[in-house]
Amino acid sequence: MTSILFRPTFTLATLLLVVVFAASQSNAQKTEPEPKLKALIIDGQNNHPVWPKSTVMMKQYLEETGLFEVSVARTKFTWRSKREKDYLPFAGVAVGEELPKPKTDPDFAPAFKDYDVVISNFGNAAADWPEATRTAFELYVAHGGGFVTVHAADNSFGDWLEYNKIIGLGGWGGRTTKTGTYLYYDKEGKLIRDDGPGKVGAHGAQHNISIVVRAEHPITAGLPENWLSAKDECYSFLRGPAENITVLATGQNNTRKSSAGRHEPLLMVLRYAQGRIFHTTLGHDSYSFEGVGFITTFTRGCQWAATGAVTLPVPEDFPTHDKPSSRTFSRAIEGSEDGAERERSEKAGDNGSQKKD
Ligand SMILES: [Zn+2]
Repeated sequence: MTSILFRPTFTLATLLLVVVFAASQSNAQKTEPEPKLKALIIDGQNNHPVWPKSTVMMKQYLEETGLFEVSVARTKFTWRSKREKDYLPFAGVAVGEELPKPKTDPDFAPAFKDYDVVISNFGNAAADWPEATRTAFELYVAHGGGFVTVHAADNSFGDWLEYNKIIGLGGWGGRTTKTGTYLYYDKEGKLIRDDGPGKVGAHGAQHNISIVVRAEHPITAGLPENWLSAKDECYSFLRGPAENITVLATGQNNTRKSSAGRHEPLLMVLRYAQGRIFHTTLGHDSYSFEGVGFITTFTRGCQWAATGAVTLPVPEDFPTHDKPSSRTFSRAIEGSEDGAERERSEKAGDNGSQKKD
């Protein structure tokens, strides 16, 4: 009898406690948001004149996820920034001194270790970093730092052995057969390592690359098995140490007979000691960076490199096997509500328009 009488009281008290506890948890979540991941984009010298703009694009893509706060570190000597010079101030750093040839900035020494992920927007022929900066970078990655190499960042620093290990594969930049192996999928879907002689770095005409996902990984989870990139270059004949590397997705440089049948690695992940690296060869020009496939794999790749996990969803406008998808870039104006206010597109186009070759 007694137990029956007391039970409802006990149950109500328990319920009340649960409600109070849940409310306090919810309040705690509201007052203490998750700290943002710290990302650093490094740039200043790239053979691709889009670089001042693509740094701003990548910065905005990361900030729009709500997960990242993004800084930029730039060499004081810049190269090929003129085409997109209007974007230089938006990186929040000094504009720099534009030179006809890349030159080492003796003061370039970003505090890599203060960041969860470092993204390189350097390119072919970028001048060497000071020795101490190279060492700091190697230690940062080795001790568990995240690194993301975008398009021509895998052309940089061809004679820097540890950099080649960190990026796994690279092209041009003085690389030779000695730099390492070719790595690609053959027609039968077999992963090939080829130490034989041959060129290092090539691409044909730009096109919408048919991309095939090759591995289950947080970065590729939920993506269609086959999808089209925006108009871009398909890097091929890259070589490198290719250690601790997983090829996530491949594409064919089908504009050149010599590479027919080779499915080239376009998206890769690597480990370098404790560090995590995401390598994308996509991102030749503005319209390439506007591809939803680029944006999605880039932001997911940065999250994975920073944390080892991916929570960013696959967007509804992700491309399919026969339909590319792009978002015309317009820069969010700082200080506007939710960054919702945007500059008018210079193309007077609409967001979400399809790009064609
Ligand atoms: Zn390119």
